[in-house]
Amino acid sequence: MSHLSLKNLCVRYPVKGGSFTALSNVNLEIESGDFVVALGASGCGKTTLLSCLAGFLPPSSGELKLDGHDIVGTGADRGVVFQKHALMPWINVIDNVALGLKMRGVSRAEREVVAMEKLKLVGLEKHARNAIYELSGGMQQRVGIARALANDPALLLMDEPMGALDAFTRESVQELLIDVWKRSNKMIFFITHSVEEALFLASRLVIMSPSPG
Ligand code: ATP
Repeated sequence: MSHLSLKNLCVRYPVKGGSFTALSNVNLEIESGDFVVALGASGCGKTTLLSCLAGFLPPSSGELKLDGHDIVGTGADRGVVFQKHALMPWINVIDNVALGLKMRGVSRAEREVVAMEKLKLVGLEKHARNAIYELSGGMQQRVGIARALANDPALLLMDEPMGALDAFTRESVQELLIDVWKRSNKMIFFITHSVEEALFLASRLVIMSPSPG
């Protein structure tokens, strides 16, 4: 059972002549099995919050803990899926999914087994040896999900991952995501500005107010 805890989290960006408070006193508790969707208008600080959880951005003040440990920098305990797939176009599908494992020194044989298992989960096992450009946008996003799952992270962070998809593809990837979540019992933190998407996906909904978030 994993647990994420945010206490009085603040983020201030340095700007000309001072600082801009993007997040002020954010408090949130998330546990394994929670599918938390953060919903809010553009500019309310959703990406800032996700960047802190991913370890891309250190908070200015407050506490940010995953399983009792301070989040400092990126780590294999957190997987991120971005709005655009952010895959490596010069390596094939399975090598993209296995990249994090390779960086952690997992043997080729073992990482192929894990990557293939995750590709099966997103229905892409037949495309394991394809190049990234041979896949559709929705398939590329599913590779991104498989890659994020390959390290078996406690927390899956998703920054508007359906934003670039057409309505039909979005619906099928949303359903796939719910299926993955139910099977893995992971914590998911998902950001969107679509009310419809938030209501469809969330087991818990977090509404963010803007200026500051
Ligand atoms: P969107 O839905 O449009 O992606 P968001 O809710 O994700 O928006 P953020 O990108 O987190 O919002 O930005 C929150 C606020 O912080 C905005 O007012 C933005 O202008 C400001 N901001 C973000 N990054 C920086 C930065 N590097 N320097 C200064 N201000 C920033």
